[in-house]
Amino acid sequence: MSVDFGKIYINGQWQAPQTQNTIALQNPATLEFFAQVPDCNEVDVEAAIDAADTAFGGWSRTNLKDRIALMEKMAVCFESMHDEIIDLEARELGAPISFSRYSHCERQFVRIRCFIEAAKNLCLETKLKSSTVVREPWGVVACITPWNYPLGQIVQKVVPAVLMGNTVVLKPASNTPLTAYLLVQAFHRAGFPNGVINLVTGRGSRLGRILSTHPKIAMVSFTGSTEVGKSLAAAAAQSVKKTVLELGGKSAYIWLKADDYRPAMHKLVSSIFFNSGQTCTALSRLIVPAQDIEKIKKLLVEEVSKLKLGDPMDPSTDLGPVANKAQFETVKSYLQLGLQEGAQLLCGKVPESDANGFYIEPAIFINVKNSMRIAQEEIFGPVLCVMTYETIEQAIAIANDSIYGLSAAVFAPDKAQALAVAHRIRAGGVYINDALRDESAPFGGYKQSGHGREGGMAGLEEFSQTKTIFDNCH
Ligand code: NAP
Ligand code: MG
Repeated sequence: MSVDFGKIYINGQWQAPQTQNTIALQNPATLEFFAQVPDCNEVDVEAAIDAADTAFGGWSRTNLKDRIALMEKMAVCFESMHDEIIDLEARELGAPISFSRYSHCERQFVRIRCFIEAAKNLCLETKLKSSTVVREPWGVVACITPWNYPLGQIVQKVVPAVLMGNTVVLKPASNTPLTAYLLVQAFHRAGFPNGVINLVTGRGSRLGRILSTHPKIAMVSFTGSTEVGKSLAAAAAQSVKKTVLELGGKSAYIWLKADDYRPAMHKLVSSIFFNSGQTCTALSRLIVPAQDIEKIKKLLVEEVSKLKLGDPMDPSTDLGPVANKAQFETVKSYLQLGLQEGAQLLCGKVPESDANGFYIEPAIFINVKNSMRIAQEEIFGPVLCVMTYETIEQAIAIANDSIYGLSAAVFAPDKAQALAVAHRIRAGGVYINDALRDESAPFGGYKQSGHGREGGMAGLEEFSQTKTIFDNCH
């Protein structure tokens, strides 16, 4: 390994933490404890915040062109860690290497390049009638990230924050912190000034409180569960910090009446089953025409039977285990709950044991009512809920009957018809037919899926505030 996972990164140096405690990382496929990172304490976090605070004065006054040039160096350095990233995500997350290559690795390279391109087109000064509006960084930004796309969530925060002239304290998820070490090492090698980026590892339940209340922190960018996001935002509000919340989802996929539903299958399967369903935007509620339910059930079974569940290191594997013991237990309990609530499993089953890894077969519940807990709560596993509708109005109502509004998708033989429905869905992003994600577009939630946007130009702008200089002097 190119970095020492026993250290933390503060003020431009990999250093031993004050804490003696560690967090052991378990490979969810083999159950082997294969690495450990520091479980940082208050003293470690204070040191990281101090370093970021000290660095802010100088960094915020650097010129955007120079920051872009350093970020370009960082990107080159990070891209050279390609194989190591894929290997670590297989081991810490259980992500199959076939899926990881693009989603956990190369897509993150694309994202970094998108931010750099957006920064080149960024307008830091706007002349108005009798004033000039300038964009300025917030200050020290705490970035707190989840385990499901460990790098994806970090890249979307750290890269734009630093490009905009902020300094950063990064706290990755406790059980998937390893690729954060690689990213920070790339920043280190690129030659960013001391204190611009700092990495602490440790329990969010302990460190989150400090990061969301500390007077030297100006902004908290959080991705994670809605439950934690709410308490973090409440704590941060006491000192009126800027918060960006990227939270949970229970996204709907509406299929409008079609002769052939096969073209919609890839989006469905890749969204709800790849990454073992541990995707915030997973299309976990499929809403289909009642008259075609038998045909659709047959197709679903056919598609799911093609998926290979197994060893993440095997290139032919589609689905690995879920990420950890807690997630295994959560998904298992939702499978039991769905049966108790009266839904039936078209495929998949309640897992019997985790003695050979945290494996859960792709599962599809049919005869689901949207009022059931399995249709309302985020399961965050390879579990699809199928519901039927009689009219398009009903389909839209079911899609919008959720506390969440992160993502959605519409499939229709006619694009214009799909578009009309897309406009009526209350979600931060809606896909039409086989459209792909655009990394330069804004990403974020409606309702309890959060607020604030990540990605591209909108993502850069979140990490800045505006100052108006009234300069029409007489
Ligand atoms: P989580 O439990 O909310 O944790 C997210 C991060 O917050 C972790 O770093 C965690 O640290 C930390 N944390 C825990 N308790 C905290 C507290 N009291 N104060 C501050 N920070 C705290 O979420 P998760 O289980 O890791 O991730 C799954 C969730 O993330 C799902 O709901 C998913 O939908 C959501 N998500 C949303 C998006 C999006 O863009 N909208 C993207 C990906 C995931 P520890 O790891 O030490 O607990
Ligand atoms: Mg959690």
